[in-house]
Amino acid sequence: MTTPLLLEVRGLSVAYGQVEAVSDVSIAVGAGEIVTVIGRNGAGKTTLLSAIMGILPSRGAVRFAGEAVAPFAIGERVGRGLCLVPEHRALFGSMTVADNLALGAFRHGADERRASQDEMFALFPRLAERRSQLAATLSGGERQMLALARALMGRPRLLMLDEPSLGLAPLIVRDVFRIVAELRERGVAILLVEQNARAALAVADRAYVLELGRVALEGPAAELARDPRVAASYLGIG
Ligand code: ATP
Repeated sequence: MTTPLLLEVRGLSVAYGQVEAVSDVSIAVGAGEIVTVIGRNGAGKTTLLSAIMGILPSRGAVRFAGEAVAPFAIGERVGRGLCLVPEHRALFGSMTVADNLALGAFRHGADERRASQDEMFALFPRLAERRSQLAATLSGGERQMLALARALMGRPRLLMLDEPSLGLAPLIVRDVFRIVAELRERGVAILLVEQNARAALAVADRAYVLELGRVALEGPAAELARDPRVAASYLGIG
């Protein structure tokens, strides 16, 4: 990897009681990179992201932008540019699209918030059309777009996406991944956790395969997509 490291996770382990769900995991994301972690249900993907965000306690080291994050609570991690879009999207259903977006930039002043909102409406025209609609009444794809846009309102340096394609129709999945690729062009690094290995490997620069809480394989995404072990286990080929 030639880009400077933005996120560096070393020897991370997370246990639920006696059961270790993530064991000695080391991953890295460079500035401006899309890195994907693929793996089956229960492989430990969500647990890994939650530990990086500080939602779950863990052992091991997490450094972000050259600093150990251990002393920082979740809010401070967000303030430093680390942002998680959880699998269940965590939107406020009884609030409008515009108000959900505003919450994503609550740390910023009104002018910056307005500029970010205009930027998001340009990136997601569908949200602009629905700015006054309640989030609960959006379609699954629109909800994912809103979750992404709300996260971007905070101007993150690294966006962690937990299964953004979950429950979406193939055409919408394509839209979501097109936007992920566009975010990289805008300088946002992405850590993408996915069960949809095919789509994730197609958009990512590098990839890790998580099996039973451990990194089983890692490498350039294009190489892993051609790896017979990945093809057989995750792409349904062979
Ligand atoms: P999925 O794609 O199904 O969400 P995942 O790869 O994200 O899977 P995790 O949700 O991280 O996997 O779960 C990893 C393991 O930890 C699983 O065996 C799961 O049952 C277990 N686990 C997750 N959350 C808890 C919890 N709160 N308490 C106990 N065990 C848990």
